[in-house]
Amino acid sequence: NFCAIDNLQGRLQTLLRDARQEQHDGKVANYIPALAEVPADKLAIAVATLDGNICAAGDSTEPFSIQSLSKMYALVMAMQLQGDALWQRVRMEPSGQPFNSIVQLEWERGIPRNPVINAGAIVVSDVLTSHYSASKNTFLMFIRRLAQTEQIFANAKVYASEQQHGSRNAALAYLMKSFDNIKSDVPAVLAQYFHQCSVEMSCQQLARSWLFLANRGVDPVTDQQICSRKDAQRVNAILSTSGMYDQSGEFAFTVGLPAKSGVGGGIVAIVPNYGVIASWSPPLNSFGNSCLSMYLIHRLAEELGLSVY
Ligand code: GLN
Repeated sequence: NFCAIDNLQGRLQTLLRDARQEQHDGKVANYIPALAEVPADKLAIAVATLDGNICAAGDSTEPFSIQSLSKMYALVMAMQLQGDALWQRVRMEPSGQPFNSIVQLEWERGIPRNPVINAGAIVVSDVLTSHYSASKNTFLMFIRRLAQTEQIFANAKVYASEQQHGSRNAALAYLMKSFDNIKSDVPAVLAQYFHQCSVEMSCQQLARSWLFLANRGVDPVTDQQICSRKDAQRVNAILSTSGMYDQSGEFAFTVGLPAKSGVGGGIVAIVPNYGVIASWSPPLNSFGNSCLSMYLIHRLAEELGLSVY
């Protein structure tokens, strides 16, 4: 039994128990009403390894809003479509600003700092929208293939809510459009972006579906080449420097793994040549990163000595 290795199952249970005792001042995302309704005490962790095994604890099969975790999948799709040309439209530098910041975009002439802040993810959405006639569906099919399940869906209520409360993302998109860095119609691009954010997945599905990034672009279970080795390295590099937004430096310092967070409370961390850790707890700190997901991944990485540095 895989979970017996290093007593992983026991460790995960202990970590969750400790996490429940942790003091934090996190708050569940409330920028859209549909997210504010999620119970604050949900807690989960899942570890998938390259041999395809999953070890998990807590609410690890419960789907939640993936939000910005979707930016990884969309980025990989856009890298396939555009090759090096993508990097003319979005850079690979940390932003040093909150995820939804607009300030750099004007003086940097509509070119976002990186593809995992909102502005950059909207450019990526534009690539998908411009290329696919049914980009929302193509996006879902890609995730389902990676997670090896058809049971992944967008949440219609969250999607409608994102649309309704999406003024800032619309502002980012229109500003970039004015610099000609958005090619399709802005409403269609935003629809793609909000739709991908509203997809729901469980920690187990997330951990499973990111495995190719821990394995040089090859899904270790199906043996399919999902992206090139070079692109897998590039995605890991971007997640290391920008995946936790303006807390990416601290995360590299304390945890030392490429990772991505979402305002649904999920964090996915890649352990190269080993596997993927996914965790979920809705309350967020001021950077928009889940307090207890960070705690869980930090503790596990420390105990197992996982830092890449
Ligand atoms: N839908 C959210 C937004 O656009 C996603 C942000 C996030 O998860 N950090 O604001």
